[in-house]
This record gives sequence, structure tokens and C-alpha cells, in this order.
Amino acid sequence: MNQDHGKDKDKNIIYPRLAALAATPISLYTLDSLSRIVQKVSLAANLEEALQVIVVQTCKIMAVDVCSVYLTESDGSHVLMATQGLHLDSVGQVRLAQGEGLVGLVAERVEPINLENASAHRCFKFIPRSGEESFRAFLGVPVLHQRKLLGVLVIQHSAERQFNENDVSFLFTLAAQLAGVIAHARVSGALQRPKNNLSTRSVSQSIIGIAGAPGVALGKGVVIYSAADLDTVPERQSSDPDEEERVFRSAVEHISQEMQSLANHLERPLADEYQALLKAYAMLAESQSLVEATVERIQAGEWAPSAFRAVIKEQAKRFEAIEDPYLRERANDLQEIGRHILSYLQNTAAVNVEYPENTILIGENLSAMDLAEVPAGRLVGVISAHGSGFSHAAILARAMGIPAVMGINKGSIGQLDQRKLILDGYQGRVHLEPSAPMRREFARLAREERQLTEELRCLRDLPANTLDGFQVNLYTNVGLLADIEPSLAVGAEGVGLYRTELPFMVRDRFPTEEEQYSMYRKLLQSFAPCPVVLRMLDVGGDKPLPYFSIQEANPFLGWRGIRVILDHPEIFLTQVKAALRAAEGLNNLNLLLPMISRVSEIEEAACLVQQAYHELKIEGIQVAWPRMGAMIEVPAAVYQIDSLARRVDFFSVGTNDLTQYLLAVDRNNERVVRLYNSLHPAVLAAIQSVIKIGYQYHKPVSICGEMASEPTAVVLLLGMGVNSLSVSIGALPRVKWVIRNFSQQQAKELLTRSLQEEKPEPIYELLCQALDNSGLGGLIRTGK
Ligand code: PEP
Ligand code: MG
Repeated sequence: MNQDHGKDKDKNIIYPRLAALAATPISLYTLDSLSRIVQKVSLAANLEEALQVIVVQTCKIMAVDVCSVYLTESDGSHVLMATQGLHLDSVGQVRLAQGEGLVGLVAERVEPINLENASAHRCFKFIPRSGEESFRAFLGVPVLHQRKLLGVLVIQHSAERQFNENDVSFLFTLAAQLAGVIAHARVSGALQRPKNNLSTRSVSQSIIGIAGAPGVALGKGVVIYSAADLDTVPERQSSDPDEEERVFRSAVEHISQEMQSLANHLERPLADEYQALLKAYAMLAESQSLVEATVERIQAGEWAPSAFRAVIKEQAKRFEAIEDPYLRERANDLQEIGRHILSYLQNTAAVNVEYPENTILIGENLSAMDLAEVPAGRLVGVISAHGSGFSHAAILARAMGIPAVMGINKGSIGQLDQRKLILDGYQGRVHLEPSAPMRREFARLAREERQLTEELRCLRDLPANTLDGFQVNLYTNVGLLADIEPSLAVGAEGVGLYRTELPFMVRDRFPTEEEQYSMYRKLLQSFAPCPVVLRMLDVGGDKPLPYFSIQEANPFLGWRGIRVILDHPEIFLTQVKAALRAAEGLNNLNLLLPMISRVSEIEEAACLVQQAYHELKIEGIQVAWPRMGAMIEVPAAVYQIDSLARRVDFFSVGTNDLTQYLLAVDRNNERVVRLYNSLHPAVLAAIQSVIKIGYQYHKPVSICGEMASEPTAVVLLLGMGVNSLSVSIGALPRVKWVIRNFSQQQAKELLTRSLQEEKPEPIYELLCQALDNSGLGGLIRTGK
């Protein structure tokens, strides 16, 4: 495993060996000691402190003389960042070039190196004045996060000794567990380099997330936080410390009394333990140290919620560091009582959110409502801890033409409030308090973007024709009535996807038939005689209704889309009736059924539409029979496209879900979202087959997923012969620009070449190159 000092090997061979090693039991060191190190590390205030905890604890638990952490720089060199056992003044000074020394070897081979006598190895490099000469045994393991090498963790011992399997396995597991914490600390602004660091390069504070919506924004962070969540309370200043203190003290008193009276009213004997716990909570709430430390911070100018959060975290950290498991558990009690007091504080204090010009809205899980609350013209960017570029907050941001970063670490949210930020929606990064040169650079980018948008606006009234005359109908994806004006302004030829669940989501109950009627009427009238595709309620999955709870272990494979509305015909019938009535005299209504996976769903839905139609006719309303279509977003529908074609009037391919289900990648899961790629050859083959068979049956096929808004993918869709695309409003001008700058012949050739590839990456490269050659490189700044 680790005695091989031979030539470097193919990394594909090495990785499985790492995996096998991870499976080795770590019996000699308990899981408890492992998890306690990880826990202590995660409580560290910054990277420097975290690394120090790692080296000290590892020496202690593994009974070795030395533990050191080297972090890998962008140039491939490795810098000693923390050590227990080597001379402390080497920290920040010792730097090994790429491939240099045993550390370089571990990094290069990304596998553990275990040596009885390190100095006898050909790669050993003596580092003067580090104190290393006294140590013979050496074990180094790589620290890898999401396939990227972050550094090397090393233990050394004075006696000549071969570390055993358990040692290797423990250190290896520790490195794997710590990689995420280190990766986050390195980029979250918590990074602090050792003071005697040689490097003079300033480290910009940035937080890495996932590209959500393209574009860059410069603005001020405004955190929307959920009640009683200690992690997301923003750090703010108060203008009236005395008032803050009064509110805080009364919150403490209230919660303490509440706990006491709850404890006193409990029935014995069942409640004995619970009673004791409540009394302990009451005492904790009023404890001098908690209250006084908080008041001290408040009087220094901090607002009560974040002052209190800081004190709770500090004290919980002390409890957590205690060896005794009983006392350690008190950290949880403290956090619990903290949440109660915080919740009370938030409910009593009128939280008046102010939205400055250039607001960058931040939250754990932002909703459409949160976005809508920002006064018009002030929202310039969106940051969400949850979700990916394919979740609805990101889709909404894209539709509004606002950049977004998703999937940032929840713990980073608090520090973004009221801070100057740069949001890079291409790279999925947020820069905190950026330097002046950085601000200048991003301001330039933002200016260029506005210029491009301006240029694209001139395309409004021009047709979406390719250079060789192939005509494409360009529609928009909309969700709220506020989208009508912008859709018309960019020259949409109709609505290709009206996500009707959005108006359901922004209410606190199901909208009535009348409410739905007036919304649909307005939409249909605004676009008549152009078509409007009204997608029937598509809830479940990542689209919950606040008043219609669906709790499932696996919501994307559960009760969503057509499954919900067929099980609730009353919801479906109300919606259909509202839509049919709204289309009276306009004849531009198309009904689209979401999440179709079996033909019987179309048949059952058609029966309900029949029922609604006849009931309205009986009432004397002159409704017309609507065109009905199926969304193709589940693999089963791709394979049954013939059968579906015999039952519907048109198809709309939902590439967001189709990609997710074909590749088995949750589009909201930040861990796997990098595997989500609509240019995957399997996805392209599925879309092509739907288009081909759909057209054989003379059924129009439109593409309405986000893929249709991606300039690169549009070229392939043109090659497949798609003549109808439904895109986000912000993307429509760019998509039109692509169509007008390519011939369909060229697109077909690119499609043929793409389909010969086996991986998505070369396809993306090929398409970027083609766009660049056509002078459209400005459209592909995305950091895919
Ligand atoms: C899709 O899945 O591509 C789609 C357009 O539907 P959703 O609203 O689920 O993104
Ligand atoms: Mg979908």
C-alpha cells in the first residue's frame, strides 16, 4: 500500500486504492475520538486555529511526536501551516515546491506514504532549522476535497517504526473528514495566515458557491434569516444600546418564567426528567455569565440577536471541549435555550428590513416572496445557502435577469449582512469587502454586460431566423403576472411555459377559481392571438406549497406534478375551469401536463378536462376545447413517446427534470450538481429521439427547460430541428442572437460532431469554440 516508491502511477489506479483504504476498520482509535477532533475543529474561529487543533489533537490521540499540516498553494507548492513537534518558527516559512520532498510525493501520488526511516528515502528533503532531523518514522496522507488536493497531513515519530494499518487508516479518515472544514475555512473569509507568513500576496475574502444565474453585481448584503436559527443571525450594530438591553433582558425573563411554569405544571411521575430539564433550562437562561456577557456586547454597540448568538456559541464551545460526555451534552442545552430566547427576541423586536439601492439578497433558502419584497429596481443579486443553479430561486433570478450564487455554506450567511459584496454569478463566488482594484474590474464587467444587453435589445422586432432561413418561434417561461410586460418588451412570440404553481406558492391558501380566472385571463389576453402554454399545477419535489404539506423521504421520486393533481381532482378541476373560462373568445390556450410517466395519466387528465368542459357548457359558457400537451421530463415518457403522441396535441421537453432523472442527479444537491449536465450524450440522445418521433406524428415539440436558454445548447437544438424554444425572459435576446448568427446547416454539423463524443466536456468546448468563431464569445462567460 505504502512502501512502493516506484514511478508515479495513473491517478485512476490510485483513487480506488484510497477508497479501499477508507474501508479499513479504525478499531484502535475510536470513532468517538475521530468525531471529537472533527467537532473541535469545526468550532475553531479561523483556519489557523482549526489547523492548530488538528495537529495538537492528532499528536495526543495517536501518541506521536509530530503532526503537521501543509496546505497546497495554487502554484502547486506546499506551505507548512501548523505543526506540533517541529519548530514553531518554521510555520509559514517552510515551503516545498511541487513534487519536492516526501510531502511533494504524497501530493503527487495522492496516496499515503508510510516510511520506517524517512531520511533513507530518495525523495527525503532535509529542511534546516525545522527540528525534523530527530524524527525517523513518517506517515503522510493527502487532504482531498471534491477531487482537489488541499494539502498534506503528516505525522512523524522519533523512533524508527512502521506505522500500522490502523494508524494509516485513522490519519486517512481524519484527513477525509477534515477536508470539507479546511476547504470552507480557506475560502470563507475565516482564513487567517500565520503572522510570519513570507507571502505578501493579499488573500481576498471570498466564499465559494455554485453559479446560479449569470452576471455580476456590486452591492450591499441584506440577510433574510429564519426565526431562531443561530447560524443565520446576521451581525448588525444597534443605534440604541439601552433599548436593546431592555428588550434582551425582558426576553430572558420571559423564557425563564415560561420554562419554570411549564416545569411546575407537568404531571408526575412521567415528567420527572423533563421537569428537571426545563428547570435547568430556566436556570441556564438566567445565568449571570450568559446575560452579562451579552449585555456587555450590546453596550459595545452590537444588536441583541447577534450579541446573544456570539455568547451562546462561545459558551457552547467551552462545554463541547470538555472530555466528560455529560457536561459536553450541556452545549446542546445551551443552544436550545438560545434558540428559544432568540425566537422571542425576533418576535418582539419589529424587524424592519431596509433594502438599500443595489441590494444583494441573502438567505438560507430564499423564496419567490422574499425576492418580491425588495422594492422595484433595488435588487441586483441573490445569494442562497440552499439549492443549485437549477432550483427555483435561481430560475427566478435568471428570469429577472439578476445574477445569483447558490449553495454557499450556511454558516457564512451571518457575516454577509450589511457588507459590501461582489457577486459573481458566472463563477459562483461572493467576494466580501473587495479591494478597490477588484471593484473596478467587476464594475467594468457589469458595464460591459449592460452594453451587451443594450445591443441585444435592438433585436426585439427581428425574427428568430437562422442565416439559412430556418425559423424558430421564441417564447418565454413566466410565473407571475409581472412577467407579462418584460416578456412583451423582449419580443416574445407567446408564452411557452406558464408555471402556474408560482401564484399558488406566493399565497397562504389555494387561489379560488375566480382568482385564477382573472390571472389567466390577463395573461391570455395580453398575448392573444399568440399562444400561451399553461402548465397545470406542478407541486411537490422542490416546489412545496406552504399550506399543503408534503413530507417525503424522497420528494423527487414521490408525490409531485400530475400525481398530485390526479389525486386531488378538485384542485385540478378548479384550475381547468378557470383556464377554459379565461380563454373564452381568445382561442390561444394550451394545457400542459407535468411529470407524465404513464399513458393512463394523460387519459385520466383528459377525462377531467372533459368533465370541466361539459360542466361549463351546461352553465352556458362558450368555452373551446383546449390543445393538450405532455411534458417530457421523465425517462419513461421518452421511451413511450409513440404512445403519448397518439394521445396529445404537442410536447414540451422539460430538460431540467429530464436531465435530473436521466443522470440520477438531484438538481438542488450542491454535492452532486457538478454531475448535472444537459450536454451529457445520454440527455442529447433522449431529446433527439423525442423530437424525431414527435415530428413523425406531426406533433409540435418545444423545449422549455433551462437548456433552451443556454447559448451553447441552443446550437445543438437548432441542429436537431427544434423550431420552438421557451426561454427565460432575460435570456431571450441572447438566444435570438445565437439563432440569427448560425445557419441550420452549421448547427447540424456541430450536432453530428457532438454526438460522436462520449462525454459532455468536449461537446461544451466544441460549442464554445463555435460561438467564439461566430463572434458570440461574449455570451459564454459562464464558468462551467
Ligand atoms: C423542467 O423540468 O425542465 C421544467 C421546465 O419544469 P420545472 O418547473 O420543474 O423546472
Ligand atoms: Mg419539471
